[in-house]
Amino acid sequence: MSLGFKEKKLIDEYIELLALSDVSRFYPTAVSKHVSITPFEAFNYLLERSGPGKEVFLKWELQCPNLDCTKIIDIADEQRSGEEIECPRCNFEFELHTTDFIPVFVINKEYKAYLKEEQEYRNEKKKLKKAPIHI
Ligand SMILES: [Zn+2]
Repeated sequence: MSLGFKEKKLIDEYIELLALSDVSRFYPTAVSKHVSITPFEAFNYLLERSGPGKEVFLKWELQCPNLDCTKIIDIADEQRSGEEIECPRCNFEFELHTTDFIPVFVINKEYKAYLKEEQEYRNEKKKLKKAPIHI
């Protein structure tokens, strides 16, 4: 099933809401819960919204497979070749599989700055409207 205009608008509004908050990144599951769609549908639409100069960037994160830990492990690109990885938090050792990576969407900082500026501008305009006019 592909998303209709209603779901797409809800996602766009949600991204805007997150961008205006202190949130810098979010998971597709957050969007799928918010809009009541599947994580796959959320991921696909977010992918349309991601790329250079767009609202978000897609990043793959490695999460510790130990469910009591689930720490996000920072690894260098050259380590991504089926090597054994040790979690720095729980010392769990595991072999790296592509399925261990989970997608996260990072909000474009320029987009965040743009929205904040736009919001301030709108607030200023509102204030001007409310202020009594002295002639
Ligand atoms: Zn761990």
